[in-house]
Amino acid sequence: MHEFDLIEKYFMRPHAQNKNLILGIGDDCALLDIPAGYELAVTTDTLVAGVHFPLNTSPFDIGYKALAVNLSDLAAMGAQPAYVTLALTLPEIKEEWLSELMRGFFSLADEFNIALIGGDTTRGPLSITVQAFGLVPKGRAIRRSGAKAGDLIMVTGPLGLAAWGLAQLKKGQAVDPQALAKLNRPYPRVHESLALRDHIHAMIDISDGLAADLGHILKASGCGARIELEKLPLSISMTEQLSQEESWQYALSGGDDYELCFTLPPSELAACPFTVIGEITASTELKFLLSSGEDFPLTDRGYQHF
Ligand code: ADP
Ligand code: MG
Repeated sequence: MHEFDLIEKYFMRPHAQNKNLILGIGDDCALLDIPAGYELAVTTDTLVAGVHFPLNTSPFDIGYKALAVNLSDLAAMGAQPAYVTLALTLPEIKEEWLSELMRGFFSLADEFNIALIGGDTTRGPLSITVQAFGLVPKGRAIRRSGAKAGDLIMVTGPLGLAAWGLAQLKKGQAVDPQALAKLNRPYPRVHESLALRDHIHAMIDISDGLAADLGHILKASGCGARIELEKLPLSISMTEQLSQEESWQYALSGGDDYELCFTLPPSELAACPFTVIGEITASTELKFLLSSGEDFPLTDRGYQHF
């Protein structure tokens, strides 16, 4: 199959009418109009086979997740996803595999009404790079740097499940179905982000574990935090099968959850129906506290590539 036939067959689609998309796939560049009063939010993330997903992951899940992690970054800024590009490096063309990859990718793209507007297709070790473009009203993006002492800290959903699922996979054990779903099909918190945007001070998506990612908010904002471990949302299947200590370790340092962590003034609590896990402090320390008031010894601070 020739390269352009491939592009026509798998990547080009009739898009829902979008007056801001002037030119999509087919030329050297796509052309976009940015509506007046908006800023363009841009992000990119790569999934490398064997690093970001086990080699036997289904192509549907790979396609889904490659898009999901990018939408999660847009959500973390309060941006509405609009367009994506897709750079694919494939060892060979297996049509059935490629078709499943794109089915996973478009299942999520269609749900959020996102247009695939371009990309690149090359031969080499399997890797998938998505670049995502979102729109946010001028000046309203939520940055990591906005947290203030006295803010409450919240997360949108259970932590640690994906990392627990990955650990089970690596050990060759049967994987808890909820953990596997969280690992392979993280649902980006786009709707939550747009509802929260006008009420909060700072936000990040949790891709490397709460300890590491909340740490980024603290560093950017020049403050500290106290997290009460008893308040961390954990899935019941995890707490039933692990000790409390193990569950907390996964929740604090396990990656790939793609929940949002954000801070807000207490006056906005009623507008944010999520779980409070602690508060921002004026110190620059990040403390994890047991109900006894003692510090919890965190053994692992999250995944780092280098
Ligand atoms: P060029 O050589 O000018 O970079 P290509 O031949 O690589 O162009 O691509 C032709 C068209 O197909 C371009 O519009 C490009 O954006 C699009 N395209 C190529 N690969 C992909 C892909 N994996 N997903 C989406 N669009 C793609
Ligand atoms: Mg060109």
